Amino acid sequence: MLEDKNPQRTSLEQLGEFGLIDHLTKNFEIKHKSTLKGIGDDAAVFDHKQQTVLTTDFLIEGVHFDLSYMPLKHLGYKAVMVNLSDVYAMNAKATQITVSLAVSNRFPLEALEELYAGIALASKVYNVDLIGGDTTTSTSGMLISITAIGEAKKEEITYRSGAKPNDLLVVSGDLGAAYMGLQVLEREKEVFKVNPNNQPDLSPYSYIVERQLKPEARKDIAELLKQLDVLPTAMIDISDGLSSEILHLCKNSKVGCNLFEEKIPLDPTVITTCEEFNIDSTMVALSGGEDYELLFTIAQNDFDKIKGNPNLTVIGHMTEASEGAHLVTRANTKIELTAQGWNSFKSND
Ligand code: ADP
Ligand code: MG
Repeated sequence: MLEDKNPQRTSLEQLGEFGLIDHLTKNFEIKHKSTLKGIGDDAAVFDHKQQTVLTTDFLIEGVHFDLSYMPLKHLGYKAVMVNLSDVYAMNAKATQITVSLAVSNRFPLEALEELYAGIALASKVYNVDLIGGDTTTSTSGMLISITAIGEAKKEEITYRSGAKPNDLLVVSGDLGAAYMGLQVLEREKEVFKVNPNNQPDLSPYSYIVERQLKPEARKDIAELLKQLDVLPTAMIDISDGLSSEILHLCKNSKVGCNLFEEKIPLDPTVITTCEEFNIDSTMVALSGGEDYELLFTIAQNDFDKIKGNPNLTVIGHMTEASEGAHLVTRANTKIELTAQGWNSFKSND
């Protein structure tokens, strides 16, 4: 996983900036009518009939990703997912992206081709147009900034601020897998440093490693909620861990929350890997981060519409703000929720 499998190296200087941009973007097709002008002018032009949402994220080598176990194709894919997840968290349809890159000359053209292969795959699968970006050099490492643009009907946009007391708190998918995948990859990296001939067997961990290296943004959930005729009262995506996102919803909506530990959805691989690493699985779900699931609140009346759906789990309910935000444990004790994961659990955001 860590060796250089791609011996061919074409230096970026050989192409020059414009040659490089052309080369990397030539196979991207414009799919949306709303994209009037994509790459190739001073600015892109698009025409949304509905309201426009826009979000941007930075990914920095050594802070947000480690190329010793993150294949560049996956990095490109993930960089797009991180942004699309924010668009879906607004209950909007993602339509366009821009990609800005700063790379040092240690990267050959072939590396950037890999990165763009991941961006191209994500754009295809998630149906978004690449409409521009910027390319420059960095003195060390790689920095990627992606901006995602989307559209939504004014009345369908879900802010963090709409949750009411007694609303149900719902999460898509399961939690904690990306964090445990990272723990496995970090461990294998250390093993590899000591013994480079040791090929790790990651097959027992394939689900959690994939959740770390190739997350999927929950485009399907926004579509599912429309089908079910459920409009969330508030929504956020889970990038920093469940507790921190719940606290954002509470603060912005001026409500409190009871989260039930026994309801938190965990994949069996997360449970067994937590046992192996001697980490508490609830802590991992609360503080691990990078799950890119959607966390939202719905009116109690809508419960029947989502009941039993395998993609959705009711994990708690909102309360008056004066009651605070709490985790109700399996032993039925109440612990105040804190965003402790932010500082103590991981070294980046
Ligand atoms: P300008 O100098 O006017 O900012 P650039 O030469 O930087 O323009 O970019 C030329 C075109 O290529 C623009 O449409 C820009 O959006 C696009 N572009 C630049 N870098 C990238 C990139 N890394 N990925 C996608 N498009 C890019
Ligand atoms: Mg430019």
